[in-house]
Amino acid sequence: DTALPAGFGERWVNTMFAAFLDRTEALADLDRRAGDGDFGANIAAALRRARTNIDAEPPASYAAWLTAVSWGFLGTGGTSGPLFGMFFRELARCTKDSEPSTAEFSRGLSAGLATVQRYGNAEVGHKTMVDALAPAAETLAARVAAGSDPGAALDATADAAVQGAAGTASLVAKRGRASYVGEVARGVLDPGAAAAALILQTAAAACAD
Ligand code: ADP
Ligand code: MG
Ligand code: MG
Repeated sequence: DTALPAGFGERWVNTMFAAFLDRTEALADLDRRAGDGDFGANIAAALRRARTNIDAEPPASYAAWLTAVSWGFLGTGGTSGPLFGMFFRELARCTKDSEPSTAEFSRGLSAGLATVQRYGNAEVGHKTMVDALAPAAETLAARVAAGSDPGAALDATADAAVQGAAGTASLVAKRGRASYVGEVARGVLDPGAAAAALILQTAAAACAD
C-alpha cells in the first residue's frame, strides 16, 4: 500500500487555499443565484481563520495541516462551515503523523462523507456537496481496491467529484437554502459541490507535484 508523497498535506492545503482565493467570487455568485449569497464570505472567513491558526502554530505533520483547516471551517457560519469542518476533521484523523497511505486517505474521505451525511441528512441528488463527495469517495475506494498508484487514484477521484458537481446544475435542491428557491436554481451549479470538487482537484494536484 503506497503512501502519499512527503509534504502532501502542506502542499494540498496551500494549493487548496490559492484555488479558493481565486474562485471565491465565482462561488459567491453561485450562492447568490442558488442560495442566500453568503457562501463566498463563509469560505473566505474559514480560510482566514485557518491561516491564522497556521501562522500562530506552523503545522509539522499532515494531521496538523488538516486539523488547522478543520478548525477554520468549524468556526465559520453558514451550513457549509460546520459540514466542511467535520469533513476535514475526518481527513485529519485518517493517519497519525506522516502522510496517509492511499488506503488511509480513502477511509478518511469515506468517513468525511459519512459525517457530512449524518449531520446534513442529504443523499445524492439533493443538490449539495454530497453530489461531489459521494462519487469521489466511491471512486477512490475502487481505485485502492484495484491497486492504482496514488497519482492515478487521486486524479480519478477528482474527475468523479468534478462530474458529480457538474451534475448538480440540472437538479432542484432538496436540502439547504437552495431548496427554498426551487426551480429558480435549476441550471445553477451547487456552490458546495463546486467547492468539494475544488478540494479534490487540489488534492490530486498536490499529489502530482
Ligand atoms: P447556507 O446555505 O446556510 O447559507 P452556505 O452558503 O455556507 O450555507 O453553504 C451552502 C452549501 O452547503 C450548499 O451549496 C450545499 O452544498 C451545502 N449544504 C447545504 N445544506 C446541506 C445539507 N443538508 N447537507 C449537505 N450539504 C449541504
Ligand atoms: Mg449560503
Ligand atoms: Mg447563509
